[in-house]
Amino acid sequence: WENSYSIKFTRFMYIAENLNNIKSQLPAHVTLVAVSKTKPVADLMEAYDAGQRIFGENKIQEMTDKWEVMPKDIEWHMIGHVQTNKVKYMAPYVSLIHGVDSLKLLQEINKQAAKNNRVIDCLLQVYIAEEESKFGLDEEELYEILNEIQHNKENYKNIKIVGLMGMATFTENQNQIEKEFKHLKTIFDKLKTQNSELKTLSMGMSGDYQLAISCGSTMVRIGSSIFGSR
Ligand SMILES: *Cc1c(COP(=O)(O)O)cnc(C)c1O
Repeated sequence: WENSYSIKFTRFMYIAENLNNIKSQLPAHVTLVAVSKTKPVADLMEAYDAGQRIFGENKIQEMTDKWEVMPKDIEWHMIGHVQTNKVKYMAPYVSLIHGVDSLKLLQEINKQAAKNNRVIDCLLQVYIAEEESKFGLDEEELYEILNEIQHNKENYKNIKIVGLMGMATFTENQNQIEKEFKHLKTIFDKLKTQNSELKTLSMGMSGDYQLAISCGSTMVRIGSSIFGSR
């Protein structure tokens, strides 16, 4: 018993320590999303007990399973690619959907939010990386979607676009990453002058969050630096 207790205690100290370490480096205007995908509830609870209340998951089923058993004051963020037919499972509780990349998806989120008498906050995911594989909107599609919402507000009463999200190219090249983050920040600033509801710029992960913050991020999504590698 003593052994298993001390192992558990050590593990707790390690997640709490990582969390506190990262939090101590974040400016007050930057929100930390603890990315807990693939990690067991016990690990999330250790972060919860250390004070963390915002968790990010990339699969709706897994997030819903965790939501069901964990304390209800947690804010759940969907950070992954969202399939339209699964929106209904998270609509009752999700607090922010980071990866919105089509009007069709936005319309489904609006529909499911309405069924739950909710307004769901969303970020539009903008494609900033050089890779082919990443999801997201190009600038033109982004403006088209914002225009559509602006001109048909009554059709989008149950969603609120509160900002943008982006992922940089997976590379060691800091200049490349910086260029991409700055590009997204420029788009964000431009849109903000027309839309006062845009407040959140979600960019930065374990490997690049400091750079992202220096480029203007207001929300970082950090997984492995808190919970260990996956
Ligand atoms: C997994 C994931 C993260 C966190 O990545 P880490 O490198 O573990 O910090 C952030 N954002 C998205 C969209 C992810 O899928």
